[in-house]
Amino acid sequence: MTEFKVCVFCGSRSGNNPAYTDAAHAVAQELASRGMQLVFGGGGTGLMGETARTALDLGVSVTGIIPTFLINQETPVEDLSELLVVADMHERKAKMAELSDMFVVLPGGIGTMEEACEMITGNWIGLYNKPVGFLNVNGFFDSFFAFLKDAVDAGFMPVPCYERAIVDNTAAGLLDKLVSARCAPELPCNADCFGHK
Ligand code: AMP
Repeated sequence: MTEFKVCVFCGSRSGNNPAYTDAAHAVAQELASRGMQLVFGGGGTGLMGETARTALDLGVSVTGIIPTFLINQETPVEDLSELLVVADMHERKAKMAELSDMFVVLPGGIGTMEEACEMITGNWIGLYNKPVGFLNVNGFFDSFFAFLKDAVDAGFMPVPCYERAIVDNTAAGLLDKLVSARCAPELPCNADCFGHK
């Protein structure tokens, strides 16, 4: 079994529907059953904490990456397999990109979307082949995909980039798609996404 490292981006809050927490638990369970490792932001609050603690309880190796100035605000999960303390947000994302093979995006706020968009654009521009997939719990990401569709319709984004975005409404289905994309020889999308064609 390949020991893929999966970075999870998700809310530092839990949201107001138990389905979000259930989804965090489901992702942790999938990682455990597939022998995958977890990389995340390190914080113990919200869906971040739920995912990490469930994964640790199931024997998953969990690496947290947190900037020094956030340690008091986003109190790290206890007993992480590894906690990397970095200088700032840029170093956090760079370390996540370096260590991880693929990214799962769970519901969250603007911080979650900021991290996800940086990794998506990094793939599309050809910096990585590290696919990013959205777990669309209760249609949470429908409005984000509607925005991408609007960008296509307005001529700001090529159709193939939109069509090749990875999304599923189950943790198992999403991880299957991410593994296929990671193992495919070509990038999930291509550098033409930011060309002038
Ligand atoms: P949120 O979705 O707003 O609850 O944030 C989820 C996580 O994203 C939190 O751990 C934030 O610290 C993190 N985050 C927010 N902005 C950034 C950023 N610019 N770079 C890296 N992480 C960020």
